Amino acid sequence: MDTLKGAKMNANYAPQSITPPLWLLAELTYKCPLHCVFCYNPLNYAQNSHELTTAQWVDVMQQARKLGAAQLGFSGGEPLQRPDLEELVEEGSRLGYYTNLITSGVGLTEPRIARMKEAGLDHIQLSFQDSTKEMNDFLSSTKTFDLKMRVAKLIKQYDYPMVLNVVLHRHNLDHVGRIIQMADDMGVEYLELANTQYYGWGLVNRAQLLPDREQLVRAEAVVNDYREKFGHKMRIFFVVPDYFETRPKACMNGWASVFLGIAPDGSALPCHAAKTLPGIEFPNVTEHSLQHIWYDSDAFNKYRGDGWMKEPCRSCPEKDKDFGGCRCQALALTGDASNADPVCDKSPFHQTLQDIVAAAQSKPTVTSSDKPIVFRTDANSRALSGLAATGQFDPE
Ligand code: SF4
Ligand code: SF4
Repeated sequence: MDTLKGAKMNANYAPQSITPPLWLLAELTYKCPLHCVFCYNPLNYAQNSHELTTAQWVDVMQQARKLGAAQLGFSGGEPLQRPDLEELVEEGSRLGYYTNLITSGVGLTEPRIARMKEAGLDHIQLSFQDSTKEMNDFLSSTKTFDLKMRVAKLIKQYDYPMVLNVVLHRHNLDHVGRIIQMADDMGVEYLELANTQYYGWGLVNRAQLLPDREQLVRAEAVVNDYREKFGHKMRIFFVVPDYFETRPKACMNGWASVFLGIAPDGSALPCHAAKTLPGIEFPNVTEHSLQHIWYDSDAFNKYRGDGWMKEPCRSCPEKDKDFGGCRCQALALTGDASNADPVCDKSPFHQTLQDIVAAAQSKPTVTSSDKPIVFRTDANSRALSGLAATGQFDPE
């Protein structure tokens, strides 16, 4: 039952200063035919097979729209695993959302894309793992490269803007030129070169995935070269991974500031990875209204404002810019989610991060022997489920 307990308990943040959520991300399912080594789903996803029904998702979309959300993303797992996706897209469109399908492409057949076009889907973001079939198929532990190529053509055929996402790491950073070329050949309008985030599966595989600085410098030069020569044709989004920076990212633009994520079982989250944070009970949409969850729940108020901050963030003049960085990264690298993100060079834990980066520096570009890659599989999820409860893992 809803109460105002959270709002009353949070003496550090005035409820009237909370702005509405703008972006609703519906993680429809954790089911996925791929096994990506950097998957952002929780390590223990295999233990969470319960999913909201169609009617419950419709209710979530209606409530979030009333709160003010304008963008609606369908993701997963692979959202195409849900046979009711078209129905949900239609409802999202009817409600006036800008709708976005975030997909690996597996399951995007011509009849389905035709139905989604008719249902009003605005935008499709397709992911590739690499520009080469071998690396794409290796990193996802599937044979999906050719299928993704066919899906890319379908997306163009149905007149969607082509938005391509490729997650970068030490195994494919040296292919950035070829990835850009592939995207150009496909007629991509927007290419997102997203560096791996080291949470969940990415953290487990960090020793295998973290690039060295020279690789990043080379990749950035290739991207800039392309932007200079052909930038008018395709927009490229490329940001150096924060492990190599001295200031953290403004994670989710601040905790529970604009983003509202709903996990397949109905847990409401202020960021994709928040479930790794121990000691927080994330409210479920089957028990509470979104109004209560967003404005009044303890979980969503926990890291709003700056009353929760410790030094050096508490007295830092930059705290309104980056909000102390990422809580999940602070937990993973310092053991305490309320510490400054150790990416920051004012953090007493910054040296830990520098040591990790230095260790990556001394490795050969592609490793095969020192530590096996852990693919996102149900068996590995069950084996690693104990770690999910702590959010911490020593991947070295
Ligand atoms: S990152 Fe890969 S394995 Fe994870 S949900 Fe996306 S496509 Fe599936
Ligand atoms: S001390 Fe905290 S608030 Fe200041 S720049 Fe570093 S992470 Fe950001």
